[in-house]
Amino acid sequence: MKIQYQNHHITVFESALYRTTSTVIALGQAVLIVDPNWLPIEVEYIGQYIQAHYKTHQQYLLFTHSDYDHIIGYGKFPNAKVIASEKLATNPDKEKILQQIKDFDDQYYIKRNYPISYPPVDIMIKTNGQILSINGIDLLFYPAPGHVRDGIFTVIPSLDCWVVGDYLSNIETPMVDDNLQDYILTLQRAKLIMQQYPTLDLAITGHGDIAKNRQEILERIAADQTYLDDICSSSSL
Ligand SMILES: [Zn+2]
Repeated sequence: MKIQYQNHHITVFESALYRTTSTVIALGQAVLIVDPNWLPIEVEYIGQYIQAHYKTHQQYLLFTHSDYDHIIGYGKFPNAKVIASEKLATNPDKEKILQQIKDFDDQYYIKRNYPISYPPVDIMIKTNGQILSINGIDLLFYPAPGHVRDGIFTVIPSLDCWVVGDYLSNIETPMVDDNLQDYILTLQRAKLIMQQYPTLDLAITGHGDIAKNRQEILERIAADQTYLDDICSSSSL
């Protein structure tokens, strides 16, 4: 499987499908696995990578949002503690999302060696700026609705790293599956995060190339804002 980016703590894998990323982040004696995804051989690869490098580490799974391509690998990591938003936990469309996975697998005759199920959430993100400390390493969470209702941003200040989910992609224009006003507010929150963390310089996007410097992150925020402004002004004509 392609490794798109790697440093001492962070490895970003890239699926052949939609250039979807899966990220593994070392947090002392724990390991955070973000949205492990897509093809069985790819999820297997990530599982083996964890076994090879983090065999005895406590596993945490972070789901950036509930789109089926992002939760598809959940069943491969049954011992992990799941971190996600409260809205992901209470999503009324769980069955629909699981059906999307089953339909995808049926369409391509795909078999998986792990069960397909919707992740039960162990650590629920309910508030803006909620902090979780894992082995003394702080993770801060911010609700990020707009693309879908249950998205979250995750910032790890000590690693200058920000897991953005399906925002700020360099290969996809903003997909407003939830709510345009919320999407605009989420981009404003993105700008605030950049102000709040002045050394943050790595943004891991759900699809495409991660952004590796502040300038690029700010440009992506601005580009998405412009795109949504255009939608707003054309719809109000
Ligand atoms: Zn996605």
